[in-house]
Amino acid sequence: MNKQKALIIIKPDGVQRGLIGKIVTRFEQVGLKIIGLKFEMAGENRVIAHYPETDVWFKKVGERTLTNYAKKGLDAKVVFNTDDPVQIGRTVKKWLITYFQESPVLIMALEGYDCIEIVRKLSGNTIPLLATCGTIRGDFSHDTIDLANEQNRPLRNIIHASDTVEDGEKEVNLWFTKEELFSYELAGEKFMYKV
Ligand code: GDP
Repeated sequence: MNKQKALIIIKPDGVQRGLIGKIVTRFEQVGLKIIGLKFEMAGENRVIAHYPETDVWFKKVGERTLTNYAKKGLDAKVVFNTDDPVQIGRTVKKWLITYFQESPVLIMALEGYDCIEIVRKLSGNTIPLLATCGTIRGDFSHDTIDLANEQNRPLRNIIHASDTVEDGEKEVNLWFTKEELFSYELAGEKFMYKV
């Protein structure tokens, strides 16, 4: 079985709240290997390339809002002037581009067996209100979809974590050059087994 790679970004709200150390620790303490680490301002084009420019992705994001609004009896047209999930997703992506450039971000490439499943487990649900206690988003944030939308901004949910094996590879290669990625052995690595 192959090791997987995942990209973690501590987004501007995580950096602004001084959570870098606590968050990096969560990934280190489960035994994932940090193979790349840097702190920088995210360029606009990098953020545009990072989030897919596809109807599938826009729809996924838009439907998150619509599902939430259906539960709360809210009308998407009030904020978005539409209830088309693709259009809603496009608007959220625009908000993400601005948000990512609020302050520096911490960018980390991780490697490990089943790394993607592990980073998503540690991160918790995209919507902080729904993220389980013990996860990064559950422990450090409490934002909700309707408040974020009303304020014309993305959910402030502290981190990005790659969602699929393919995205992990793509995102690590988008944010890091080959020279910025390192190959080394963790203490006791050869005795580590799959968790
Ligand atoms: P992730 O992989 O868990 O980060 O989730 P997505 O890739 O689906 O969404 C990217 C980011 O967009 C999320 O982390 C949120 O910051 C933001 N976001 C997603 N859906 C919504 C939404 O419906 N409304 C708002 N305001 N922000 C959203």
